[in-house]
Amino acid sequence: MNLWLANPRGFCAGVERAVRIVEELLDLADTPVYVRHEIVHNRSVVEALKARGAVFVEDDAEIPAGAFAVVSAHGAPPAVHRRLAGGSRRLFDATCPLVTKVHLEVLAHAKAGRAVLLIGHRGHVEVEGTLACYDNAAGGGIQVVQSIDEARTVAVPDERAVAYVTQTTLEVESANRIVSVLRARFPALVGPHHDDICYATQNRQDAVRALAARCDRVLVIGAPHSSNSLRMVEVAGENGKPARLIEAPEEVDAAWLAGVADLGLSSSASAPERLVEATIAHLRSLCARAGDTLEVRELGRAEDLSFKLPVALTDLRRRRAGAAAAGAAHEALRYPAAHPVATGADAARDAEPSPGGSR
Ligand code: SF4
Repeated sequence: MNLWLANPRGFCAGVERAVRIVEELLDLADTPVYVRHEIVHNRSVVEALKARGAVFVEDDAEIPAGAFAVVSAHGAPPAVHRRLAGGSRRLFDATCPLVTKVHLEVLAHAKAGRAVLLIGHRGHVEVEGTLACYDNAAGGGIQVVQSIDEARTVAVPDERAVAYVTQTTLEVESANRIVSVLRARFPALVGPHHDDICYATQNRQDAVRALAARCDRVLVIGAPHSSNSLRMVEVAGENGKPARLIEAPEEVDAAWLAGVADLGLSSSASAPERLVEATIAHLRSLCARAGDTLEVRELGRAEDLSFKLPVALTDLRRRRAGAAAAGAAHEALRYPAAHPVATGADAARDAEPSPGGSR
């Protein structure tokens, strides 16, 4: 059997950044590290961080004084940020910069007195955080539009002052269909200068389309409560190929693969590459049991993008590196060593974030 691996797949820059923030805090912290909500929607990522000592809570009131507090990649209402930044807790914001962009758009529309129509899934944690960014003082209000039917009936106080934003993980074509209905109803509708739907979501959906064109069946590694995972499965189905979502390699159904010559495999933006590797190993053993071999091939091109880490984290890293170097210098004065000891400046420079793109 040929196994085609989609590119890009797996962690996007926002998830990579969020997970790295928690991992670095666990390395640096001398206090407990609490994370509000699952840092990303993937059970294995959350379990791995829990095993290292991270504590996940849904309510920020559960985060004790003195702790490091992390807001997940999906973002949180401004009131949560205010509460966590107050008192003796230290806030590290892992909100994806693309979600923050949408929050800023909502704040600007509210300030301008525009009603906002938020295209997205009601109840999703990102949507809840974005809704809470609207300041009702100017009176326009914000509401979720989840479907074309809702776009046809939604009402706003003043049709001359209305804007839309979208959840970042939607599928572009479905969102565009809803926007077209809104535009026809509200000619003055204001939208974002650049699409709110993130590059990672779009790129992974395009890669699944290419997989569906090349393969008989498609497997997507992801979580059942992750919007972008579910959407990738839907995209393969819409392109005429049976597709399934799995959270772990053991969920692969050998009977479902009977007679398949070309199988596609991808992973959602919140699924780590180690799950892809484990799934390949599992498929290899299934093939061997069936007297077959597995040929692994790559399809498409990987992404090369990263987001900057929060200043609060780079500051903490620099301070800890400086303190460690000062401690080492103190020890060196007491017990002169054969090798020179790194200065605080050297250590701080080493602790700078590695170069990479940012947006
Ligand atoms: S899927 Fe997009 S919006 Fe979500 S964390 Fe990744 S880059 Fe950010």
